[in-house]
Amino acid sequence: MQLIIHRGTHEIGGSCVEIRDKNTRLLFDLGLPLNDAENIKLNINGLYKNDKSEINGIFITHSHPDHYGLLDSVNPEIPVYTSKITANIIQNVSEIKGEDNYSDLNLNIIEKPVNIGDFTIIPRNVDHSAAGSLAYEIIHNGKKILYTGDLRFHGRTSYLSKNLAKITDVDYLIMEGSTLDRPDQKIKTEDDVFDEMANVFTTNKLCFVSFSSQNLDRFISVYKACLKTKKTLVIDPYTCFVLENFKEISKNIPQWNWNNIRVYFGGGKHTENLADSGKLFTYKSKKISVEEILSYPEKYVVKTAKAICDKILSIYDVSKIEYIYSMWSGYLDNPSYFDILKPQIRHIHTSGHAYIMDLQEFVQKIEPKVIIPIHTEMPQKYSQLYDAEIKILKDGEILNL
Ligand SMILES: [Zn+2]
Repeated sequence: MQLIIHRGTHEIGGSCVEIRDKNTRLLFDLGLPLNDAENIKLNINGLYKNDKSEINGIFITHSHPDHYGLLDSVNPEIPVYTSKITANIIQNVSEIKGEDNYSDLNLNIIEKPVNIGDFTIIPRNVDHSAAGSLAYEIIHNGKKILYTGDLRFHGRTSYLSKNLAKITDVDYLIMEGSTLDRPDQKIKTEDDVFDEMANVFTTNKLCFVSFSSQNLDRFISVYKACLKTKKTLVIDPYTCFVLENFKEISKNIPQWNWNNIRVYFGGGKHTENLADSGKLFTYKSKKISVEEILSYPEKYVVKTAKAICDKILSIYDVSKIEYIYSMWSGYLDNPSYFDILKPQIRHIHTSGHAYIMDLQEFVQKIEPKVIIPIHTEMPQKYSQLYDAEIKILKDGEILNL
């Protein structure tokens, strides 16, 4: 059996792992790099549309583009496996976002172990900032590999990652290390985020919150904080659509037609695509105008989107707005429609990736023989942190297992 990390040995994003034997070739993740790499496309034989298919299966961990973004170029004969929620995001939501079309993918939902050649691939649910995230346990002739994908231990479904730590007899642990460059870490959970938000929402001011529509944990934190402080959350039609694609997770996932949620129809590309698909009008019963919001500003929390921010910020005094930024602070370096609010930002956020202490505890429980770093800029740090043999690979290097 051989392992090749095509990309991700020394970077965060663009992950792709190949595991193969003489007869079978499997890929795990096929992501877009986060940096402006020159060679976005990976050099993998038998993968692409015009090649004769030589890959027996592609297993996607979760719905972040740095893990699935290159799927648009793969030969549609190759089966792609992932969770139901990830499949919803890849097929339905990316289309509304106007991203590359993934409609001809041979997508399969994986809920139970799958056998391909001499491999058994077992999906394992984990906690991450993308709902429906998986790790994969791969068994081949008595050897066991565990590929973590992205994971954390402090979100609303942290028990999933803790269950992953119960897997025993792992020979090779291919483990992410996104946060290893952040030494002074105080663990903040998603519940802490909820508490801090609810605190801010006790104000009489109009509140704005910036967060990703696809970060379901964060949506629930904001929504619960609104309920607690009797505020109404104003979202855009795109967020309504994303929530509908999470419906299958449980009946408890808030939906656009729930109490305390209103919808602002502001235009923009996503809204236009929803209009074209015939979806937009279904949200009409919850429509709200800027005039209505500004008549009772103390009642509302607005999820920021360009259309509504442009309108409100052009007529309303910014000093009367409480502004919460609830995403990775690195994005703030980019110019944005909310630039005028940046001087008064409150940053309330927790990472989608595990803290170092949690990863150390995870490794202690799993007791892997070998750890192979991935999705990290600091692979050389692994040997200081974890008690196992560390095997740092180069992108494209072949390791015999
Ligand atoms: Zn991710």
